[in-house]
Amino acid sequence: MMLKGKVAIVTGGTRGIGYAIVKRFLEEGATVSVWGSREESVTKALASLKAENPDWVVNGFWPSLTDADAVAEAVAKVKEAFGKVDILVNNAGVSARDSIYAYNPDDFKKTIDLNLNAVFYCSQAAAKIMKEQGGGVILNTSSMVSLYGQPAGSAYPASKFAVNGLTHSLARELGRDNIRVNAVLPGVTATDMVAALPEQMVAAISKTIPLGRVGTPEEVANAFVFLASDMASYITGALLSVDGAAMT
Ligand code: NAD
Repeated sequence: MMLKGKVAIVTGGTRGIGYAIVKRFLEEGATVSVWGSREESVTKALASLKAENPDWVVNGFWPSLTDADAVAEAVAKVKEAFGKVDILVNNAGVSARDSIYAYNPDDFKKTIDLNLNAVFYCSQAAAKIMKEQGGGVILNTSSMVSLYGQPAGSAYPASKFAVNGLTHSLARELGRDNIRVNAVLPGVTATDMVAALPEQMVAAISKTIPLGRVGTPEEVANAFVFLASDMASYITGALLSVDGAAMT
């Protein structure tokens, strides 16, 4: 068990990549606080985890991630419930598709607020606790488009480029406090979003990927397990692509 005895928070943990991370962390012996945007989705995720394995130790919160005080309060509640916070996974995020010619500036701000500012708020609250307890791990879900951009929805790649910058900077700032900070850069991953696409479109996307297919949430989650574990004890400030070499 690679994460035995560790306490983790996973934002956006109710579905998709986040849910796969939650499950893999639990399988590896961690205790996990599952965070989502609504009470209903968190309750549903916790019920399905408990149904899978009643021994898994989980709880859940749904703070507004764009409210620094609400985030700090929820992080404190996790510490209160489980005694510590070893791992924070900043995974919640929204995509964007608008053309610059039709982009509503408020929508641009909203994407940056969740995909970037919330990562800072969560990291700030968790780092304070991690410093006190002698160390920890912060992992960010970035994206392959954080390296190359994308031809629409510019707030999304802009936010993920910034997440990479925050990853590098916090790794340098927090290294002395024994807090490692890394990012995983998924390629096209078969979450609900991709499952909703027409089969032909997925086949066309798959053809452009050297490994010939899209990734699974579990394949992405495995990278998080490794980076969260002591196997990665000398890895910080790294950007790990899990994309089948999609853009290279
Ligand atoms: P998803 O839409 O299936 O899940 C998103 C998660 O974020 C959900 O749990 C949701 O509750 C949470 N979330 C959304 N808005 C929120 C808000 N305002 N407040 C709190 N939580 C909120 O998406 P996914 O594909 O699993 O994406 C997870 C992460 O992976 C995101 O950061 C995304 O940018 C990144 N990513 C996904 C892909 C992909 O192909 N699926 C590729 C690269 C990167």
